[in-house]
Amino acid sequence: MVDLKSQYNKIKAEVDEGIRQVIDSTAFIKGPKVKEFEQHLAHYLGIKHVISCGNGTDALQVAMMSLGLKPGDEVITTSFTFIATAEVIALLGLTPVVVDVNPDTYNIDPDSIRKAITANTKAIVPVHLFGQCAPMEEIMNIAKEYNLFVIEDNAQAIGADYIFDDGSKKKSGTIGNIGCTSFFPSKNLGAFGDGGALFTDDDKIAEQARAVVNHGMKIRYYHDYIGVNSRLDSIQAAILDVKLKHLDEYAFARNSAAEFYDNAFANHPNITTPKRYSKSSHVFHQYTLKLKNANRISLQEHLKGLGIPMMIYYPVPLHMQKAYKSERYQKGDFPVTEYLSESVFSLPMHTELSVEQLEYITKGVLSFFK
Ligand SMILES: *Cc1c(COP(=O)(O)O)cnc(C)c1O
Repeated sequence: MVDLKSQYNKIKAEVDEGIRQVIDSTAFIKGPKVKEFEQHLAHYLGIKHVISCGNGTDALQVAMMSLGLKPGDEVITTSFTFIATAEVIALLGLTPVVVDVNPDTYNIDPDSIRKAITANTKAIVPVHLFGQCAPMEEIMNIAKEYNLFVIEDNAQAIGADYIFDDGSKKKSGTIGNIGCTSFFPSKNLGAFGDGGALFTDDDKIAEQARAVVNHGMKIRYYHDYIGVNSRLDSIQAAILDVKLKHLDEYAFARNSAAEFYDNAFANHPNITTPKRYSKSSHVFHQYTLKLKNANRISLQEHLKGLGIPMMIYYPVPLHMQKAYKSERYQKGDFPVTEYLSESVFSLPMHTELSVEQLEYITKGVLSFFK
């Protein structure tokens, strides 16, 4: 599904030099490289504060802790996402309220958010799924109307632009109160291990988040809050700092691969290619299609026989996961998510796909229907 080795080979000299510098300095934790990377990422995103942390799941948890959300508070998120989004809500004793998604963009549906709001609702967590922004302008309007926080789960869309009605643009993750991202190796901006970050324009939230990731302390050994220990290490920061310079070029390569796939599967009776949302650029974390009138597992087996990986993101909606079953929800409550979980499939998507590979993959898929 990804080819991290070929990507590394192209930037090897610079990455190796960055790692060597950190080893020479022995400033492995909280070293200058971490600060530098945070500043470079803030500049790239056009935001005031970037606070790095241990992974994307921690970023979401720290975001909710920094906003002072309390047990019993309801947090609205999408039923079609990776589990981390809901996991931290539940871990903090908050109540996850899930809502359905748009069948074309796979992203959270603003009308469903509106219907799910109660007196206890405190925050909305839209996920920019597969590399494309959720409808942020509508979501921000709802948040303003009901005085809710917005935490953007930007783990899959770093570098994407959201385009407002007036034509102005903002980077995904910089529109709500806090944006969160993951530097898991296969993400669009991936480290050589775990990493994550939060971003915000709000000085108070930034100060709070910086304390929370560091055991709740602003002054060493004085703990003002209950915090966590969540850090990006200097070696990962050095690697990410090199890769950040290539992020836009990586998005371009992903888009080229997506266009190849789009053309190969255009007007196919059994396949629907992913729809581009007019208010967002797409950075194609995943290339996810919908299958009609065909057996998905047979397709996966067929591709496996040809040495082509195919993944299903995500096979089980949140409300049907064993750990998250609640009296609130039943099968049938989120028809779009349930339909998608039964029909989507994702093909290899990364920065190093050659035309030969793309031809092999698309021919392999098409041969299933012959
Ligand atoms: C990857 C991912 C996360 C979690 O990131 P980790 O760094 O693996 O903790 C959260 N949300 C979404 C949507 C993700 O894809």
